[in-house]
Amino acid sequence: MALTPRLPASVFQGGVSKNRSESTLSNPRHLWRGASACAGTHADRSNGLTKTIGIYIHIPFCLKKCLYCDFHSVSLRSYRPLKEYCRALKQDIKISTAEARGYSVKSIYFGGGTPSLLEPEELAGLVRVINERFYIMDDAEKTLEVNPATVNTFNLKAYRRLGINRISLGVQAFDDKYLRLLGRLHTSKDVFLTIKLLRKSGFKNISIDLMYALPEQALASWEKDIDTTVSLGVEHVSFYDLTVEKGTPFYRMRNKLKQPNQDEQARMYKGGCAKLKKAGYVHYEISSFAKKGRESRHNCIYWLNEEYMGVGSGAYSYINGTRFGKDNNLKRYMDEAAQCRISRFNAEELRGVRRYKETLMLNLRILRGFSIKEVQQRLGSPLPALMKDRLVQLVSEGLVLNKGDCYRLSSRGILLYDVVAGVILE
Ligand code: SF4
Repeated sequence: MALTPRLPASVFQGGVSKNRSESTLSNPRHLWRGASACAGTHADRSNGLTKTIGIYIHIPFCLKKCLYCDFHSVSLRSYRPLKEYCRALKQDIKISTAEARGYSVKSIYFGGGTPSLLEPEELAGLVRVINERFYIMDDAEKTLEVNPATVNTFNLKAYRRLGINRISLGVQAFDDKYLRLLGRLHTSKDVFLTIKLLRKSGFKNISIDLMYALPEQALASWEKDIDTTVSLGVEHVSFYDLTVEKGTPFYRMRNKLKQPNQDEQARMYKGGCAKLKKAGYVHYEISSFAKKGRESRHNCIYWLNEEYMGVGSGAYSYINGTRFGKDNNLKRYMDEAAQCRISRFNAEELRGVRRYKETLMLNLRILRGFSIKEVQQRLGSPLPALMKDRLVQLVSEGLVLNKGDCYRLSSRGILLYDVVAGVILE
């Protein structure tokens, strides 16, 4: 699962076109690197671009809704408007070009939902429009979220040829009992097979998403999931506790779901961290672990409160000091796009203390923390006195550590991050 701005089943069940055209994908690397007639050469287009941005493309479709999921996605069982939606996305990208003029793109993230439901031809169409409109940096990170129930070798190889260089795999658990309980469509066997196929297809940067604090889950079961993850040798791991969100089937069943208590959850979190660290992963963000140099560049954009452009129904952007969303009503979003319009929702300018609050709150998620000097330079204004007071308070409560002008979460602060965020935002 991606972070917002919205903020991923058995292998090979669906989404496989019977009419693939290998020819349209035979040499698609030029889609990212080459020059379109209207945009000048690759080198020309990079001239004078000093600002960088990440692009997030939201694919709000899944084969079936998982029982805990409150993300903006709809089940494709009876409704399959993928082609129409891709047309709308292309329109959205074209319209968004005006907002992101003057930026180089350092990361592109296809999240959802289940982006791996996209046929390679559909993904190629989106890639083409992005490349026509933006300068993509040579080393840009290009991630696709993949659900193990939706892949086949043909599509994976095609995604790779399209330049996708990072895969975020929604695994959640390795115990089939839990996968069924969560309403996932895949089995642990599907995950092993998917990883094999991903490696065979040339992917060298794979991230796995896991969940802990599952109903009646014991520490040993969670630690077994971590051991299995380590044995797969993936480059990146993210794990999150199961949160029962309002409006989900799990919420209606909440009294029957016996999740581990807070102390047990803290032991699970610490146990997972310790095992991954021992296996050589760097714990670089509260929920994220990476082999050296494999930190998620795209997610770091959010944690540093840098700029991003969200494309798609329900996606959020933060550009030129303004954050805004796009219509999360799928039909309305597609109807508007068909008329060459994309409305903004909940637009707000982030300035002064408010911008600082959000930046520090997000920045503290990165465990190396931040230096005041660096943040001031990034935001172009001095640290407000109120923010200095809040940091002093957090240090005095032992939640944040301070050395010189650098601040970072303490071990206790990591476990109590919600409290830290609350103090900064109040
Ligand atoms: S795969 Fe499941 S968790 Fe992921 S977006 Fe779809 S319904 Fe939600």
